[in-house]
Amino acid sequence: SKNSHKQQGLIVKALSGFYYVKPDDANCGETLQCRARGIFKKRGLTPLVGDRVVYSVTENGEGTVEELLPRTSELVRPPVANVDLAVLVFSVSEPVLNLQLLDKFLLHIEYADIPAVLCLSKQDLQDGGDTEEIAEAISSVHRIYGDLGYDVYGTSSSQGEGIQQLQERLRGHVAVFAGQSGVGKSSLLNAIVPGLSLATNAISNKLGRGKHTTRHVELIDIGGGYVADTPGFSQLDFEELGIEDLGYGFVEIRELSSDCKFRGCTHSHEPGCAIIAALERGEIEQSRYEHYRLFLAELNEKKRRY
Ligand code: GDP
Ligand code: ZN
Repeated sequence: SKNSHKQQGLIVKALSGFYYVKPDDANCGETLQCRARGIFKKRGLTPLVGDRVVYSVTENGEGTVEELLPRTSELVRPPVANVDLAVLVFSVSEPVLNLQLLDKFLLHIEYADIPAVLCLSKQDLQDGGDTEEIAEAISSVHRIYGDLGYDVYGTSSSQGEGIQQLQERLRGHVAVFAGQSGVGKSSLLNAIVPGLSLATNAISNKLGRGKHTTRHVELIDIGGGYVADTPGFSQLDFEELGIEDLGYGFVEIRELSSDCKFRGCTHSHEPGCAIIAALERGEIEQSRYEHYRLFLAELNEKKRRY
């Protein structure tokens, strides 16, 4: 309309029907509270945090989201568009490092087509009780996941270890942190983002009050990048995953499965299976294959019941 002009920006927050849009061009002013045009609702489109948009601003400063630019990715939990990096956090201790859970998180991230890096948090706990066991677990994570092509960062939020490296890795990205409750995601975000003070301590989470009860997402500007202020992939059910998707979530299986003799091979018993052959040659990690089989059994069980 007349007396308004259009500019491009990023939705950094969505709350009660309002979208908070940060202009791409710093000369175009501050983040502006906008309404979305009615046309979105009609088309069943919901603007998401992380969306790049065209928006208009009237002379008296009223903003309207006019157009959504194409998304590169779309997460449901948390609802964020255009995430291009997932930081999967596992603590070296408290809670104990669980590779099966790690593979389940990775599977979901891979399935969402979002590049992942691993972060082994609470490195300071290495010096505690079961030092040898912890050290062994850490080195196997570096070996297994490093070989698969994932960057592995070691951090301690309390000691400041590895924080700068992780900060640098986030630059230029829209990132989410993922990982089970209590591994130190909030503490990491607080260490990474100057001035941020998310509530920490997993207990408040378990009681269902405290930090994540207000379920709105916000992108935090970290100076040359953004992180979502809430954990991602918090619900790891296989709701939308099919058996045929499972192999996709394991990079080494995804890469080799076109060599299997049968299309739709589940890599469990089929003759001419390239995955089983690679496993027997020692080219696929035993624990990874075991977890694949476990998840496959879970999916089969689910299919049988419904
Ligand atoms: P979240 O649930 O993943 O967000 O985890 P929090 O950040 O809330 O941390 C859970 C608990 O672990 C809290 O009691 C933190 O104080 C503790 N914690 C977090 N980071 C570290 C760390 O680097 N070292 C140690 N020793 N404890 C940590
Ligand atoms: Zn196969």
